[in-house]
Amino acid sequence: MLGPEVRVEFMDIWGKKMSNYFWNILARLAYPLFWERYKKQASALGLREPVFVLSFDCDTDADAEATVDILEWLTAHDIKISLAVPGEQLLKHADLYRAAAEHADFINHGARPHAEWHDGRYWSTTFYDQMSVSDVVNDIVQGHRIVCDTTGKIPRGFRAPHFAHVQHPRLQRKIHHALRKLKYAYSSSTLPREAFFKAPIYKIDEIYEIPVTGRYNAPFNVFDSWSHVHSPEFPTILQTYPRRLQDTVDALQEFNIPAILNYYVDPSHVIKQPLFYETLLTIQEQGILFYSFEDVLVRLHLIEQPHPQYEEATL
Ligand SMILES: [Zn+2]
Repeated sequence: MLGPEVRVEFMDIWGKKMSNYFWNILARLAYPLFWERYKKQASALGLREPVFVLSFDCDTDADAEATVDILEWLTAHDIKISLAVPGEQLLKHADLYRAAAEHADFINHGARPHAEWHDGRYWSTTFYDQMSVSDVVNDIVQGHRIVCDTTGKIPRGFRAPHFAHVQHPRLQRKIHHALRKLKYAYSSSTLPREAFFKAPIYKIDEIYEIPVTGRYNAPFNVFDSWSHVHSPEFPTILQTYPRRLQDTVDALQEFNIPAILNYYVDPSHVIKQPLFYETLLTIQEQGILFYSFEDVLVRLHLIEQPHPQYEEATL
């Protein structure tokens, strides 16, 4: 027999899961209505067309190697990206990421490792909802220091590790409080539904939150490379990932919906899939611009340039 506290927690988790399923299914059924609402919110922000914000989640050694190759290709094709690398990986591949900082913006992605290898595959590790608040804040501050020391640039944005686990408003407030102390401008640690319930960019505690984006006909579901790999043991994306990405861009253009296409991929998942590269080029040919998070905020007049220099770093 469960004790009352365990029962309450079980009901709380179960209730949230059911609520998520309900909204995800409703959004799949009535996606044109949800996008109609999104369009109004995006237009109110000053967005006039879809813009692409591509970020790489570089949690593993395989991602570090893949980043070098892909970044060279992206730079040659004028496609800008942001990198989210845990501090442990930044220190391990410091030379590589220092060179990458010339072509990409870095966001603080915490300090602890996000993945560990055993039993023939990577497993996720470091979940903020299972850590004390002081350990979470410490991880954010250490992550900040490591980005500064490794790249020579001050990050102005943050993405929480495995951010689906930091959706509780109380935890978000604690995280944003820490980001404000570091003088950050933005975070991208919320789920696609927030872009519809709140706005494509909204503020929590002086920090702009930029939710990740779903697909056109599944707008509340996270659309990342991990959810389209062959298997955890063979983590290369299926062709469905670039195809669905293209479908979303086509639909947003067709229905004239200004949007922030905030997508993240693990570079090791996409490096061996030529259709991913071809799709990015097609999207570029359709006139969609690739921005960093910071570019979007500057263009919407929400923050000012320039990027602060390393010497001005204060903790
Ligand atoms: Zn990560």
